[in-house]
Amino acid sequence: MIRYSLVCEAGHGFDSWFPSSESYDDQVARGLVTCPACDSAKVTKALMAPSVARTDRGHAPTAAVPPAEVSVPMIAEPERQVRAMLRALREQVVANAEHVGARFPEEARRIHYGEAEGRSIYGEASPAEARALIEEGIDVAPIPVMPDDRN
Ligand SMILES: [Zn+2]
Repeated sequence: MIRYSLVCEAGHGFDSWFPSSESYDDQVARGLVTCPACDSAKVTKALMAPSVARTDRGHAPTAAVPPAEVSVPMIAEPERQVRAMLRALREQVVANAEHVGARFPEEARRIHYGEAEGRSIYGEASPAEARALIEEGIDVAPIPVMPDDRN
């Protein structure tokens, strides 16, 4: 059995089974195949179109969605926040510690070894001096220097 999709002269589509393709040709030629809708005997094989988009399926065609608006972060913002944090840290140190200037390494040692009053100090030390203090077990930390402090 062969199933054919048929269409009549009025455009009605319907399916019909035939024992063979020859049988189909014979029955159509003799007017034995009629449209179930309009009874027309002028039927032909429907052209099978590959999945044509239909408009009667109740859903809208997929629309192209515009890309979401991408917010571009300002590159300068993180740096500004870091600088604000460093400034706050620095201001806290400056506000709560005594500035000893270039005497910092000496003063730090005196405090560490109990020769001076224990207090927070800050001042200048070269990298080598700072490293030496750390190696002696003296707790020192660099204070961030703000670029605009160098004026
Ligand atoms: Zn018809």
